[in-house]
Amino acid sequence: METLEIKLTRKTTGKIWLSSPHMGGKEEAFVSEAFATNWIAPLGPNVNGLEENLANYLGGGVSVAALSSGTAAIHLGLILLGIEAGDEVICQSMTFSASANPIVYMGANPVFIDSEEATWNMNPLLLEKAITEGIAAGKKPKAIIVVHLYGMPAQMEQICSIANKYGIPVLEDAAEALGSSINGQKCGTFGDIAVLSFNGNKIITTSGGGALISKNKALVEKAKFLATQARDNAPHYEHSHIGYNYRMSNICAGIGRGQMLVLEERVKQRRSVYQFYYDLFSSNPAIAFLPELTGFKSNRWLTTVIIDPAVSSNGITREELRMALERENIESRPLWKPMHLQPVFKGCKNYTNGTSEHLFDHGLCLPSGSNLTKEQLSDIRTIIEKVMS
Ligand SMILES: *Cc1c(COP(=O)(O)O)cnc(C)c1O
Repeated sequence: METLEIKLTRKTTGKIWLSSPHMGGKEEAFVSEAFATNWIAPLGPNVNGLEENLANYLGGGVSVAALSSGTAAIHLGLILLGIEAGDEVICQSMTFSASANPIVYMGANPVFIDSEEATWNMNPLLLEKAITEGIAAGKKPKAIIVVHLYGMPAQMEQICSIANKYGIPVLEDAAEALGSSINGQKCGTFGDIAVLSFNGNKIITTSGGGALISKNKALVEKAKFLATQARDNAPHYEHSHIGYNYRMSNICAGIGRGQMLVLEERVKQRRSVYQFYYDLFSSNPAIAFLPELTGFKSNRWLTTVIIDPAVSSNGITREELRMALERENIESRPLWKPMHLQPVFKGCKNYTNGTSEHLFDHGLCLPSGSNLTKEQLSDIRTIIEKVMS
């Protein structure tokens, strides 16, 4: 396609991605060791090593099961919490569909909760309303799935205290929030069960993978048992539970062990990308950021902005900025479309206040990779300045 000459404003070439894998350099050594020792299996030293690295990093005495994906971790989490067909499970509406799909795998029904403005995550007032109304209707929700969107922690103190008050377990979807914390406590250690994702676009990756985390060691052991086809202790294949093939491979875990060595650096890099955009837009009243509440630390997995065309000097909309970037081969993306607006979840119960809908209408995720070069950032700046002025 070299003949197709498009005049770009950019100086750099090639696509600028929203968030792409960023290897640290030691990953291949762990993978090579797996080959050298023939541990090409969904178990092995890298899997154990990654679980140990994660448990140490997260702190708080958690145990970790490395799994094939974050979605698998949420599915197993719901199984471990005893969700049954026909149950109601509360879920943050403003999220990626993978937070909610496993509720349907269980034959249970999602009840979607809108966001609050301070964190863009689950609104504690609407949460309590959904719980009390559910109880009044004779259908007490069986679990609460709360998400730390784009790395910003949800109001875990309030949410966990409401959950405790009514005796409902919390499943913490920390897929986007490895490295985030509240008052020093890491996201992934608040819920009865938490999940992480190591998909290709997350802050660290195993190419594909996830983890289930809990302070309850027996629960994590049970997750490992269910994730390896639920084989009972017998010389033949004996099964008294339905099993799943959800374990992480020792090859993928090798990549993860290498990535754990650079996790803190990746958090710093993502946060400096956020600072870059913040400085770029700071004098523009049409652009709003999501600041951190006192004690909250976001890994800034993705930098997100809200663009208010009513305030901007030239009336530019989110879509106009997104398309201007796309013309220059730069990927950006609207914020997640809330689950209560998704065709597939039409008819599900929801408690809404318009917050997530507003975020979806005006929000944009900007290229946020930890491997963006100075030159690429400079190109992004040039284009944004051109479009916004
Ligand atoms: C990525 C993601 C998941 C799913 O993780 P996979 O590893 O891709 O299955 C779940 N929830 C949220 C919020 C995510 O961003």
